[in-house]
Amino acid sequence: MAKKGELSKTARASLAQRDDKDFMTSRVCEKCGEPITLKDLQAVKVFGQGMQYYHKDHYKLA
Ligand SMILES: [Zn+2]
Repeated sequence: MAKKGELSKTARASLAQRDDKDFMTSRVCEKCGEPITLKDLQAVKVFGQGMQYYHKDHYKLA
């Protein structure tokens, strides 16, 4: 009984961790053309063009 509860708590924790750190968005970086994970996503509003998306590091360099 106790073991069953332990297992489901572990499964839920690893699922949450994956969503936070490695979630792959459908956005592609304007600088390098690679897909961007949620933790690296930098959205930039460009006047007259709408939104553009960068990796955080690539936006700093751009
Ligand atoms: Zn990039």
